[in-house]
Amino acid sequence: MTALVIPCAHCAGLNRIPSDRLAEGPRCGRCKSKVLVDTPFDVSQASFANQIKGDLPLLVDVWASWCGPCRSFAPIFELAAAQLRSRCRLAKLDSEANPQLSTQLGIRSIPSLILFKDGREIARQSGALPLPQLLAWLKQQGV
Ligand code: ZN
Repeated sequence: MTALVIPCAHCAGLNRIPSDRLAEGPRCGRCKSKVLVDTPFDVSQASFANQIKGDLPLLVDVWASWCGPCRSFAPIFELAAAQLRSRCRLAKLDSEANPQLSTQLGIRSIPSLILFKDGREIARQSGALPLPQLLAWLKQQGV
C-alpha cells in the first residue's frame, strides 16, 4: 500500500497517510484537525516551506484585499477546493501580510496562481480563470 506525505492544512505538520484512506477524512497526528479540508486555507511566511512539501500538489492563490479581480476569483477558488479535495490542496497567500514571501516568489501581478509539488514550483498562471479553465489548466499539469 502506498502512503502519502501530506502537510496538515491547520498546523502544517507532516502526516503519512495510506492512499486508500484519503477519502475518510484523516486527522493530523499533531493537532488532530482534518489534514485535508474542502475550503482554501491560509499559508504564510511561517507555514509556506512545510505546506509546499508532500505528495499532493498545492495550488496557491496569491491575492490582496484591495484587489477587485482577486475578490471576484475567491468563490471560484472555493469551488475548485471542494472539487479537488484529496487530489490537490488549495491555499491562499495574502501578499500584503507576507511581502517578503511575495517578493521571493517573484509576484508581479495578482491574482497569481502557483502550483507546487514536492517542494518546488511546477506551474504558474497570472490572472484569474473561470472554473472550467482552472480545472483544465490543473489537468494539463497532471492534477
Ligand atoms: Zn495539524
